[in-house]
Amino acid sequence: MTQLDLLWAYQAADTEADAMAHAIRQSPKRQKLLKLRDYIREQQESLKTVENEVMAMSDRMEVLKDAISLADDQLKALQKRIQDEPPTSSQEIAAYIAEADQLATTLSDYDQEVRRVRKSATDRDRRQRDIKLRAIKSKEEFDQLRVEYDQEYKEKSEILDRLRAAAEEKKKGIEPEYLARYTSIKQHSTPPMAKLVNGQCGGCNMGFPSSVLAAIRAGKQVECETCGRLIIG
Ligand SMILES: [Zn+2]
Repeated sequence: MTQLDLLWAYQAADTEADAMAHAIRQSPKRQKLLKLRDYIREQQESLKTVENEVMAMSDRMEVLKDAISLADDQLKALQKRIQDEPPTSSQEIAAYIAEADQLATTLSDYDQEVRRVRKSATDRDRRQRDIKLRAIKSKEEFDQLRVEYDQEYKEKSEILDRLRAAAEEKKKGIEPEYLARYTSIKQHSTPPMAKLVNGQCGGCNMGFPSSVLAAIRAGKQVECETCGRLIIG
């Protein structure tokens, strides 16, 4: 067996192992797990957002309560002042009315805001519950799938280990220079070797001039000028 023959046999084993590694990465179970993980993270994020909003609302409610009680006190003080110092002129009457109107408007504004915040809080409570339920369901699904995937991964990894070991075995007798060439071509072209097919590169179908064909047939190391693959005759 020539070095190129050995390398060709190694490539077959190496490609098989790579295909298994690829299958492990592309496993539908793994893809679904990754999606579920992202989804669960998103749910956690939105839960955090809602919790922050609820906290901000509860702070706002405290502020509103204080403001309402202050306006109430001001209204009572105004009523007492009207009793203690009844207005004596139409100007004073108008001033009292204006003051009372303003306090009433303020109170009504606060009241409306309290209603809005309460309604919003109810909506958020519901959203929080929905998100929590969805998160629990997703987590259950994730855990279940995780068990299945771990089993699948274990089985496939064992196969992969065997394939890698078989490929390693095929390296025996190959000179380091050839292996280095193979590895370096693999960075840009997979598989790194191609057969000569009808005078063309089996990797990219480019034709070779007769001088190159002669070199290939003589078993020399020839790389395709187009795709860079090592050509075996
Ligand atoms: Zn080529």
